[in-house]
Parts: sequence; C-alpha cells; structure tokens
Amino acid sequence: MTSSAELIELSERRSAHNYHPLPVVIHEAHGSWVTDVEGKRYLDCLAGYSSLNFGHGHPKIIEAAQEQLKNLTLTSRAFHHDQFARFCAGLGDLTGKDLVLPMNTGAEAVETAIKVARKWGYQVKGVEPGLANIIVMEGNFHGRTTTIISFSTDSDARDDFGPYTPGFRVVRYGSTEAIREAIDANTVAVLVEPIQGEAGVIVPPDGYLSEVRALCSAERILMIADEIQSGLGRTGQTFACNHEGVVPDIYVLGKALGGGVVPVSAIAADRDVLEVIRPGQHGSTFGGNPLACAVGIAVIDLLNTGEFQARAAKLGEVLHARLRELVGRGVLEVRGRGLWAGIDIDPELATGRQVTEALMERGVLAKDTHGSTIRLAPPIVVPEEDLIWAIDQLGAAISSF
Ligand SMILES: *Cc1c(COP(=O)(O)O)cnc(C)c1O
Repeated sequence: MTSSAELIELSERRSAHNYHPLPVVIHEAHGSWVTDVEGKRYLDCLAGYSSLNFGHGHPKIIEAAQEQLKNLTLTSRAFHHDQFARFCAGLGDLTGKDLVLPMNTGAEAVETAIKVARKWGYQVKGVEPGLANIIVMEGNFHGRTTTIISFSTDSDARDDFGPYTPGFRVVRYGSTEAIREAIDANTVAVLVEPIQGEAGVIVPPDGYLSEVRALCSAERILMIADEIQSGLGRTGQTFACNHEGVVPDIYVLGKALGGGVVPVSAIAADRDVLEVIRPGQHGSTFGGNPLACAVGIAVIDLLNTGEFQARAAKLGEVLHARLRELVGRGVLEVRGRGLWAGIDIDPELATGRQVTEALMERGVLAKDTHGSTIRLAPPIVVPEEDLIWAIDQLGAAISSF
C-alpha cells in the first residue's frame, strides 16, 4: 500500500489548496475510531463537522444504504420514487413542520431558505419588489456559495469573491437589540445559527433565541434557524432551538442528516411559508434522491428513539466538567452545549494548529478554528472512557508546550 507521505505529497501536488488537512491519511473507520493507511488508530473528535453524529458506519444506516443501492439510486424529481414520501413525512414529523424541501449540501439548503424567505416576503408579506432584506449575524457560517459568502464577516471566506449579493444586514450575534435596530418594513427574515459552530462554538446568551423568536413573530419576519451543525442530537436535544423551547419558521438541516454516507440537506417549514415555491421555481437534480432519502429515513428513525439526544446530553456533562478543569492550565475559556465544545487555547502558549498536531500524535483527531480555538465534537456513539481518554490527551498535549 502507498504510504501516507506519498499520498499527502500527491494530493499537495494535484489538488487545490483550499484546505490545510492534518497529515493523516485515513483508510477506514468504525464508530468513533478511524485507522490510517499505516494502521495507526485515532479517536475522531471532529466527526465530519458533526456529519458523523451516529458514528462511522452505523449498522442501521449502512444497512439502509446497502438495501437501497440494490434497488434504486437515482430518478431525478421528474418522477416519484418510493423513498421520497416517507423521508419528507418523517422529517416533517421530526421538525413538527408541514412541508420539507430536500437538497444535498448545507449551503444549498441555506440558499433554499433565503429564496423561500424572499419570495414569501414579496408574495405574502407584501415587501416592495426587489427590496427584501435578511438580517444575519457577525461571525456567521452558512456555507460557501457566492450569495452566502456575500454576508460572511470572515475575510478569508469573502475577500476577492465579489461582486456580492445585496440584501443582507449583518448585526452582532447574541444581541436582540441589534436585530431590532436593523429591522425595517422590507425585512423578511432573521437567519441565525442557534450556536455558532465555525466561529468557535459560540453559545448566545440565555434567552436570546426566545427573544429573537418573539421579535420575529411581532414584526412578521421569518426566523430561520441554521441547525446544520447544531441540530440532530449534537447538543443533547434534537435541535439546539429546543433548549429554549423555540420553534423557528424554517429549519435548515444538513450534515448528520446524511448519516455520514451521502450529502443530504433540507429545509422544513409550514405550508404558509414553503408553499410559495411552485414547480420550476427551485430544485436540484440530486435533491431527495432515493439513496439520500433511504439514508435520511434511517437517520430520522435513530433520532426518533431519543437515545442519541440523551447520550449527547449525558456525555456532554462529562466533557464540559473535565474541560473546565483545564481552564487556567493553558486554556482560557471553554464553551459549548452537549457533546460539542470550543476550547480557547492561550495564544501565548501555542496555536490551535500546534495543539491539534500534538493531539494527532497522541491519537486524537480534532480541528482548530480561528487561530487558537480547538473544536471537539466526537460521534455521539463514543464510549465514555474513550471520551475521557481524549480529554486527558488534550490536557497532556497542552502541557507539552
Ligand atoms: C457546514 C455548515 C453549512 C454548510 O454546509 P455544506 O454541506 O458544507 O455546504 C452551513 N451552515 C452551518 C451552520 C454549517 O455548519
């Protein structure tokens, strides 16, 4: 077998450098552990940015995918297929919404929500033609399309990709007052991550989401919750909005919806919102394909047991209690909810990248973000003792600097 060094060298030479991966070449994975081409094992503490909430190769998900591969993989939406209805009904029930519109990647689902909100604004709310605006948050991450990066506040994501799509107003995350000030008669939606993942697992102040909900209702504005990373069990609830008993007008879902097998995303909303889209006005060749739906149904079935939400909550307590002990010992701050944490490393000590490299040497894969933050989000199936071991490795890695 070709060595990691050779494969890394070849990808450096032949792929665009739009990522800066850790120098590990993964060959196979089961549950929360991955194995590289040389046979070394690592605990996966990134879980595909929460795409692998149910672990690598969850038997129920793989079984559903294999069954579907035998029967039917693609039809396009020009025809019905026998997995579509159950997926939409299942996701509608999970979200408590009337209707579901499936896409593939997270960014496409966000784009879908933006288009639906604008059309709803013009057709239902009566906003002046061409003038709809959507309020978004500083530090947001909603994907990589031209429209979405138009309202990013991260210069790496945005610079030199203009001209930018107009119609967005950026306000401070965590401040309802800032949203209130930005609202005008043409505001159609507030787009918010219930917890900002890429920004470093930023949890807004208690009460924020319910205040945003109340404000949106009072002003007749759609609340769009991007739960692509925060949803589907990660925080100890099905959706991060559940922690405040908040129901957004539009849920935006992705990542774990594809069970770690295929890209599956969707938005879910009630009829009065999503019915503004008529045939021909929006779609995707692969969105809602049979394989995606079969996998999505398996994911929804797993979530309907409630086991993963409960496990993320329970393991989250272990994670956060142990991480708190590192504060003051090379760690400045720890944030997060459920099995999801952002850890700010003292920048005087080491960069986030240096810590993730040291962690890799110790058999733990994690990802840094924004210079000095480490993100931990292992699969929810991670055994408790492995989780504790990984946190010990983090402590040891930090004290090695
Ligand atoms: C990952 C992510 C996206 C984009 O999803 P892709 O599948 O990479 O397009 C959007 N929003 C949030 C909150 C995400 O974490």
